[in-house]
Amino acid sequence: MSDDSETFSFAADISQLLSLIINTFYSSKEVFLRELISNSSDALDKIRFSSIADPSVLEANEKMEIKLIPDKANKTLTICDTGLGMSKKDLVTNLGTIAKSGTKAFMEALQAGADISMIGQFGVGFYSAYLVAERVEVHSKSNDDDKQWVWSSSAGGSFTVAEDTDYEKIPRGTHIVLHLKDDQEEYLEERRIKDLVKKHSEFISFPIYLLVEKETEKEVTDDEEEEEEEEGDAPKVEDVTDKEEEGEKKKKTKKVKEVTSEWELLNNQKPIWMRKPDEVTTEEYDAFYKSISNDWEAPLATKHFSVEGNLEFRALLFVPKRAPFDMFEGGNTKKKNQIKLYVRRVFIMDNCEDLMPEWLGFVRGIVDSEDLPLNISRETLQQNRVLKVIRKNLVKKTLELFAELAEDDSADGKYAKFYEAFSKNLKLGVHEDSQNRNKIAELLRYPSTKSGDEMTSLKDYISRMPEKQQGIFYITGESRKAVENSPFLERLRKKGYECLFMVDPIDEYAVQQLKEFEGKKLISVTKEGLDLSLDEDEKKNFEEEKAKTEKLTELIKSVLDDKVEKVIVSDRMVDSPCTLSTGEYGWSANMERVMKAQALRDSSTMGYMASKKTMEVNPYSSIIQALRTKADADASDKTVKDLIWLLYETALLTSGFSLDDPVQFAGRLHKLVKLGLSIDDATDGDDGLDDLDDLPALDESGGDDEDFSAMESVD
Ligand code: ADP
Repeated sequence: MSDDSETFSFAADISQLLSLIINTFYSSKEVFLRELISNSSDALDKIRFSSIADPSVLEANEKMEIKLIPDKANKTLTICDTGLGMSKKDLVTNLGTIAKSGTKAFMEALQAGADISMIGQFGVGFYSAYLVAERVEVHSKSNDDDKQWVWSSSAGGSFTVAEDTDYEKIPRGTHIVLHLKDDQEEYLEERRIKDLVKKHSEFISFPIYLLVEKETEKEVTDDEEEEEEEEGDAPKVEDVTDKEEEGEKKKKTKKVKEVTSEWELLNNQKPIWMRKPDEVTTEEYDAFYKSISNDWEAPLATKHFSVEGNLEFRALLFVPKRAPFDMFEGGNTKKKNQIKLYVRRVFIMDNCEDLMPEWLGFVRGIVDSEDLPLNISRETLQQNRVLKVIRKNLVKKTLELFAELAEDDSADGKYAKFYEAFSKNLKLGVHEDSQNRNKIAELLRYPSTKSGDEMTSLKDYISRMPEKQQGIFYITGESRKAVENSPFLERLRKKGYECLFMVDPIDEYAVQQLKEFEGKKLISVTKEGLDLSLDEDEKKNFEEEKAKTEKLTELIKSVLDDKVEKVIVSDRMVDSPCTLSTGEYGWSANMERVMKAQALRDSSTMGYMASKKTMEVNPYSSIIQALRTKADADASDKTVKDLIWLLYETALLTSGFSLDDPVQFAGRLHKLVKLGLSIDDATDGDDGLDDLDDLPALDESGGDDEDFSAMESVD
């Protein structure tokens, strides 16, 4: 190492991660080897890919390989690759100064009980070296830098980078030297390393060699042996056979053990996807999945297939057990998908855009095409026809895989797990993929008024539908609890109709696109115009009640004014006095809530798009009946107006809207409480509410803030 080494501080969160790695006890330290080999393999993939366009990048060293060198004397394990290598700048930025989103996320995951072996998923795998090493040196040579550099650190907040003059000359690539901690010497053992490579790195597509010591027995004459000893090459002398007795003619010989070092190949690089599916074991698929995904768990489902004909490709797809930590994170660093593209066995690129739609971004795997040109670039991919066909097939096969999972759900609850992890993706798919919309909709599951703790598919829902039912009823809302007892469901329940509960914000978007399933319309029960197919008697009865209530509805509209679009008499409730529905094509109450939550900064859009509410009153409700009697007697009755406002505000709540002005609402309620407690406002001087009756808010305007300021200020 040259003298002028520069010292750098680790980015704060990396420093934190390092001390967590060093100071916490983890039992599965062995992950470090998988992570470092995986980094080497990535670096080799990169140089191989750039060599397609420019073969001269391999000039310094034609070989593409990984070598592991255990050195017991110095207690070091070295991982060498002939990959891309790192320039000085790369070393400084990649290994310590650039903060990554995964660092923090990984520390949080660890604190929440995640396993250290998940480190690779968070993009900070390199630092796992400190699980076993007290000091790490990274010697690297890149084509982009004339000089070879060495990065070195014992953690503790800083690292150094210097010109690498004392180490062997590296034509191209990286050598990572791990100075093992005293209690980690097991990673120098041949057996241990071989087992680890077998377990975690079997499917690396570059050869991995281990430097092993071979002992060979050799018969030497005494003379020879002496000579060798003189040369200072000291082989171990094991047992000496004295052959003197066998005959004097024979020269004296000895058997000696000679220790030589040689490279042993540890992995079989025949790509697993080129093998016949029935010759690959589940264990092999699982191991391959883990090697490409950094996942510590086996996949939930696997699909291995090939397409032949005009266009040929092979693919191996996996559904993970859980969603990645950054699945729905925005930003342009987001991976579009997790499919690796190969062309005739040569790795071309990771996260190949356009191979999978965004909603299937969680599916992992590889595609190996026979038809694409080797020198394809990300830019030209987008217009490529072959790629479009591959994509179509991948989506089709993936949907088949999901359907298979859904089918044998009874056995092991796999589908329930899948659905829990990825239902949002399916719903996004319904929203975005018009071609496959119906297929995806078959995979949806919802709780309903009849499903109990289970969920139901749309198909099963339809099979239970009475013949005259107009369509598939659903209600959207914030939570199951919030929708379960909604007044909108009262009549529906009474008539024995089933209603789906959709309580995921994305349901609103999905259902807007879905519109119908197997010829049955999806009908929101919170929107107006719900037809519950009443029979003749019911209709006649309703018409009579309706006629009696018309006058009240006119009064309500005049009191509430532009708070509601219109007021109608409705048959959808049984017990509740009234409810607020929205227009068939406008936002539902829940959509309004979702949009507010998404912090639409432009409040004018909010006002413009906000739901147009229709107040529906229930003519069978005793409250409405009493109110209409009162109103018929005296339309200008103050209490009637008060009560109308209260009914409107409570309907806002039960229908899933939020109150515009909770203080005003509370004021009205307090007044009722006083009535209940027989507090006479006239004698109740202290609270300053003496003239509550005269408050214009309750009587006329329906409450401007100003009108109520008097009331607010007294408390
Ligand atoms: P990740 O590999 O997930 O990006 P790491 O922390 O493991 O995260 O590595 C950080 C970066 O360091 C890599 O992205 C890569 O640019 C660089 N790097 C690590 N190991 C090597 C290597 N053997 N050869 C070349 N570059 C490497």
